Amino acid sequence: MGLTIKAHGKINLTLDVLSRRPDGYHDVEMIMQSIALHDTLRIEDQEEEIMLTAAGQPVSIDEDNLIIKAARLLQQQTGTQRGAKIHLQKEIPVAAGLAGGSTDAAATLRGLNELWQLGLSRKQLMELGVRLGADVPFCLLGGTAIARGIGEELTPLPAAPNFGVVLVKPAFGVSTAAVYRGLNVASLRQHPRTNSMVDALRFGQLSAVADELGNVLESVTLGLYPELQEIKETLTEVGCQGVLMSGSGPTIFGLTEDAAAAIKLARQLALPNCKVVATAMV
Ligand code: ATP
Repeated sequence: MGLTIKAHGKINLTLDVLSRRPDGYHDVEMIMQSIALHDTLRIEDQEEEIMLTAAGQPVSIDEDNLIIKAARLLQQQTGTQRGAKIHLQKEIPVAAGLAGGSTDAAATLRGLNELWQLGLSRKQLMELGVRLGADVPFCLLGGTAIARGIGEELTPLPAAPNFGVVLVKPAFGVSTAAVYRGLNVASLRQHPRTNSMVDALRFGQLSAVADELGNVLESVTLGLYPELQEIKETLTEVGCQGVLMSGSGPTIFGLTEDAAAAIKLARQLALPNCKVVATAMV
């Protein structure tokens, strides 16, 4: 028995950091948005053992892969004797700010819950998921949502318009921890306006959404990698309306009216050493 599951990536339409907590995590407030770009997991039921293979974007298939961690966590928590053979078709760039690892972990939890007939609720899966990564609960929910706490306190929002998204991922990856280390929360002068973005999304006009985009981590990552500024300028020049870094980066995204416009604009981009993907908000 087996099943095939899509694991969607995300972008941050807003990302604000409110405070640094004593445990080293940060309290955040962000508007998360699923995108059509997805990995695909093929999961087959088997006895006990967890096996992982992968194709596409290069990613480790060892014990550090979040798919294996998610499967082991589920085994430990439920005491099931079942195992799984999992094949990952990796399309989401790795260490990119697109929640590639978190969404694979979320898809594994969903898939194995069904395949092993564990009967866990989405809430229970989310509680397990946050142990694997702060973005895993959102990836279990999908769509558009406000995330608070370390990212696990979610308020779903009405479906957003299907704006096109042009993603530009430079050849290097970024460590989320390193970016947070470079952030001085007390010195932040400007914060994204979460409520205004919620209104703009409801109103559905691209220019209004573009005006409200904001990410307080952007200046930290741009300070580490100044070449990201050029990518931002190029995306604006070709006609993207709102241009922002996603998560802790380094992926820069630009918004367009729809997926067709994103495909057209992506074709015009000549950015050496960058992966360019045209996708859409879903
Ligand atoms: P986020 O936006 O949630 O901060 P990200 O997009 O910046 O995540 P990921 O692609 O999740 O970053 O990769 C972060 C780290 O997780 C990488 O160092 C990678 O090796 C590791 N990792 C573990 N499992 C996976 C997986 N299934 N897919 C991608 N990366 C994984």
